[in-house]
Amino acid sequence: MNTNRRNFIKTTAVAAGMMSIGKIACASTSATTAKVSLNLSFQEGTLRAEGEGNRLTLKEKLDIMEKLGVTGLEPQGRGITDRVSEFKEALSGRNIKISAICAGFQGFMLSEDESVRNQCRDTMREIIVVAGTLGAVGVIIVPAFIRQVPVMPHTQATRDFLCEWFNELGKFAVENGTTVILEPLRRNEAFYLRQVADAASICRDINNPGVTCMGDFWHMTLEETSDMGAFLSAGKYLQHVHIAGRVRRTIPNPEVEQDNYVDGFRGLKMIGYDKYVRYEGGSGPEELLSASVKLLRDNWEQA
Ligand code: MG
Repeated sequence: MNTNRRNFIKTTAVAAGMMSIGKIACASTSATTAKVSLNLSFQEGTLRAEGEGNRLTLKEKLDIMEKLGVTGLEPQGRGITDRVSEFKEALSGRNIKISAICAGFQGFMLSEDESVRNQCRDTMREIIVVAGTLGAVGVIIVPAFIRQVPVMPHTQATRDFLCEWFNELGKFAVENGTTVILEPLRRNEAFYLRQVADAASICRDINNPGVTCMGDFWHMTLEETSDMGAFLSAGKYLQHVHIAGRVRRTIPNPEVEQDNYVDGFRGLKMIGYDKYVRYEGGSGPEELLSASVKLLRDNWEQA
């Protein structure tokens, strides 16, 4: 190779390197300045009435949520097929949407028994149809809880099976305008899938827009070394987030020192996360929820 050609290659390589570094710098600058708002969501059981034996109706709960600026409601999947018109009517004219649908399927996907796997697939499909009708971001699913046996072994073949299985369900979700959301849990609940990055890696391998993942601060507190790192690793695959107290699975409480979410929220802002953060665990009256929502909004501001 002559000197001119060698110099040309060297110069081109350096320029290309600088351009790619520039791209990374630009990406990181735009990521850190991304303006996204915190969209909060409750479960139906998050709010409870003051006073022993009192109950709030769904309408009363939605009224309080609107007052608190909470814009999502996440119902349980069990029995949801019979409640579509109830939710449609209750949410009509409100600034609250169904955020996601939490599980509620029967059977489990990693069962060694084909009929149990099919039961999971068929009931998931029913819930996915409802999720699409109600405009939910997705239906949450756990591959296998630790108590569910007999279960497929934790091997490469099982992972391959899981990817194929999810791809099929993801296609069905896309047809219905929604997604399936893999939820990693803590080790004593679901050993198979514990970390957000692992769920995201399954989504990447499947490469189907209907297959997404989520992070739950309660489980992440035990399983992750960095909340921010976990969310960054999930990136575009992150479709949903759950939040609870960090010492006990209760309502995040400003009086509990450990209930701090700034690091994780920073990660969410960096990936431009604009979906929901939904309360999961415990319940409280309006006064506690008001203080809790303020805590999360303050943490989001700090992040
Ligand atoms: Mg959860």
